[in-house]
Amino acid sequence: MGTGGTSGSGSDKTKGAMNIEGYPVKGLSIAGHETCVMFPTLKLAFDIGRFPQQAISHDFLCISHAHMDHIGGLPMYVATRGLFSMKPPTILVPKCIKKDVEQLFEVHRRMDQSELKHNLIGLDVGEEFYLRKDLKVRAFQTYHAIPSQGYVVYSIRQKLKQEYVGLSGNEIKNLKSSGVEITYTITAPEIAFTGDTMSDFIVDQNNTDVLRSRILVMEGEKPERSLSQLCYLFMECGVWSDVKCEHLS
Ligand SMILES: [Zn+2]
Repeated sequence: MGTGGTSGSGSDKTKGAMNIEGYPVKGLSIAGHETCVMFPTLKLAFDIGRFPQQAISHDFLCISHAHMDHIGGLPMYVATRGLFSMKPPTILVPKCIKKDVEQLFEVHRRMDQSELKHNLIGLDVGEEFYLRKDLKVRAFQTYHAIPSQGYVVYSIRQKLKQEYVGLSGNEIKNLKSSGVEITYTITAPEIAFTGDTMSDFIVDQNNTDVLRSRILVMEGEKPERSLSQLCYLFMECGVWSDVKCEHLS
């Protein structure tokens, strides 16, 4: 994927990013070579490819599967963040490969005597991890030659219950301090990332949130009939959106 398109906010981290549904998006995906898709404002990257330099500023990394073009740059990502005294990244991997990833880092530590600090989280399909209080990730099933999973990012917002709308600040404060639950939670699927997968994930009953997400990033070929309602955004990397049709040409 190229990094062209509409530019982001102008900060270094979003420079050159495409802006989709309010999220700057960067990345590249060349089948068999390298996949890394980044959401700089969330400090979140999906897969690490060969570790493109721009990925360094992302504190969270979700790995979809262990093919080298998706995970190959992992030790370098961790080592380079260490080199620049950045905080240890949090890395989410399919639970079934967690032990192997731990051993991978052990081997590197033995060889170069570095610390390679990071937090490694094994996540099974259906399990969740909170990136922030208002942002969580859930793993979902994908269908590939080796164990694989995608991730849905959810925003979590508190909204004032209808019956309390219009009350003064003091009244709300009093209600709150008297223990009344004045808000309710809205959880919305924002971004889904599949990594390599066959189209079977689309009909998986447990994956409805994947297709409800505002942004769906697929390791993709050209649109299939079942996806014809979606607009094709990045011909090479497969970032889709059902809203940003104006990007089509
Ligand atoms: Zn693969």
